[in-house]
Amino acid sequence: MTKTKVLEFDAAGIAAAASILQGGGRVAFATETVFGLGADARNGAAVASIFEAKDRPAFNPLIVHLAQAAEARKYATWSDQAETLARAFWPGPLTMVLPLRAGHGLSDLVTAGLPSVGLRVPAHPAAQALLRAFSGPVAAPSANPSGKISPTSAAHVLAGLDGRIEAVLDGGNCAVGVESTIIGFGSDGAPVLLRAGGVAREEIEAALGAPLLDRTAAQAGAITAPGQMQSHYAPALPVRLGADAPREGELMLGFGAVAGDLTLSARGDLREAAANLFAHLHALDAMAKARDPAPTGIAVAPVPMQGLGAAINDRLARAAAPRG
Ligand code: AMP
Ligand code: MG
Repeated sequence: MTKTKVLEFDAAGIAAAASILQGGGRVAFATETVFGLGADARNGAAVASIFEAKDRPAFNPLIVHLAQAAEARKYATWSDQAETLARAFWPGPLTMVLPLRAGHGLSDLVTAGLPSVGLRVPAHPAAQALLRAFSGPVAAPSANPSGKISPTSAAHVLAGLDGRIEAVLDGGNCAVGVESTIIGFGSDGAPVLLRAGGVAREEIEAALGAPLLDRTAAQAGAITAPGQMQSHYAPALPVRLGADAPREGELMLGFGAVAGDLTLSARGDLREAAANLFAHLHALDAMAKARDPAPTGIAVAPVPMQGLGAAINDRLARAAAPRG
């Protein structure tokens, strides 16, 4: 149980909230859409602790919140269309999914191992003040337990997460109350509506001077960018779960007492394991490519189902599922 501080939206409260983020803690804060549950997007354990607090049974990618549009170029490959949308709708309830840039420094858990990142510059004064004081990228899904209604006040946040997060910044209510609109881009740059939300489709189409494709149309058509519209990452090698030891030719992903070529957490810590999950899967794939003879698969040690273990096992099960 963590003691959840309620911080006032004033200079002292903002400074305290920023220092909690700097220390790897979680702070819920108002945005114009709903309250977000924020943590340093570069800190894998901090990002893992967001999933832990929400009891999220799966790792889906989190939106990275930035103080201003200029920072987006540090993390994503920018384009003319991204510039147009940023000028028209940032700060505001629009998220853009863009290709990750080399040297981005974000945790793999934020992108769920995908080669893309969702970025947004929120307009709410509390979000703006916190992002400026922290002066770094903040990963934030909605500040509610998984499966519950998104919070639009500090009281809603406390009703769901009191004792599970370090602080809530009491910055007043959220004006929009629905999630941000999410736009992605195909390999030919075609803009795709990934999720409807706070900015209307028509407004975005007017700004771009082009129609938005729907996700299903984009997936069916040739414009799908490998990796960009992909809903989850899976390693190239077959994955075998619940293994106590590797079979001949297999690479091993360890956990706890079961050591591997790489180990999620030797001390059996689920937060550390979550933070390492995607990086280790990518690294095992890379290791496999470099080996002769090529390994036949990845054996994965059992990971307990409690807490973050549910989300870790969910992702491992998807990685192990037969490929179409
Ligand atoms: P939320 O539940 O508001 O935190 O929104 C997260 C959603 O944003 C995810 O479920 C995805 O649909 C989308 N998203 C965020 N980051 C990415 C990404 N890197 N690639 C694709 N979709 C993303
Ligand atoms: Mg949510």
